[in-house]
Amino acid sequence: MTRNPTLTLLAAAVFALAGCASTAPRTAPVAVAAAGVAADDNLNAVLWVQTAQEYRALTTQTWRAAEAQLDAALADPQWTALLPGEGAELQTPAQKPAVIVDIDETMLDNSAYQARLVVDGASYGSASWASWVKERRATPVPGALAFAKAAADKGVTIVYISNRTHDMAADTIANLRAYGFPVEEANYYGLGVEVPGCTPHGSEKGCRRIAAASRYRVLLQVGDQITDMAQLTSNSPAERDALFNRYNAWFGQRWFVLPGPTYGGYEPAAFGNDWSLPADVRRARKQQALELAR
Ligand SMILES: [Mg+2]
Repeated sequence: MTRNPTLTLLAAAVFALAGCASTAPRTAPVAVAAAGVAADDNLNAVLWVQTAQEYRALTTQTWRAAEAQLDAALADPQWTALLPGEGAELQTPAQKPAVIVDIDETMLDNSAYQARLVVDGASYGSASWASWVKERRATPVPGALAFAKAAADKGVTIVYISNRTHDMAADTIANLRAYGFPVEEANYYGLGVEVPGCTPHGSEKGCRRIAAASRYRVLLQVGDQITDMAQLTSNSPAERDALFNRYNAWFGQRWFVLPGPTYGGYEPAAFGNDWSLPADVRRARKQQALELAR
């Protein structure tokens, strides 16, 4: 990439205008790279989520496919989307039906938060994330709301299991309700909620799946991470592959995965989950994980 003086001047003008128009919707400066901001590993992923028709098509078709499975799942009293050890043993035909969903990048789109990080040259942080959650400005993932309403029409409860911390429940539920998602406080399981008799493994959702299984027959699980469906004991490429391969038949049948390219377990798996490594070392490890022929 070469520096372009005209673009640099344009960037300066755009920054100045942005400063004068603080009440306008926030949009990114048009010549960030020309202004000398370092390349960001997340630029294309965030751009794709926010602008690609293909992203919206993928999320819409995934949610429609999930909806198409509801009738078959309701009709089969033995049907469950839970694995042994994660609530399957608790399932009975008499239980009311439910679907377990993740929230971030599943029901709600947080790409505006990611876009701010890209434009600001910043990285994810718990403080900036907490501020974003309080804003309640996440928007529905395309297709999610239609699914949630269709499920509700069939008498299927939506259970939300999220790694937003449990003290974010009020803001999260308000954000969901503002768009019409059916959500009850009792059906929101955030990170840190206690499940009697179960000790969670880190941020894994297994205990919360068991809690949901004690109340509902779980027809489907939907998320943007494979750990939204089942636990991993370590987030290694090998274990992630093993989970995917072992339950391959469940994807598109009981488990539905949405595209989530901006963050997720795939990335730290490439550098041993060691976020303490310098950014350039993490990037080098990711480059080393690329396959130059398959
Ligand atoms: Mg998610």
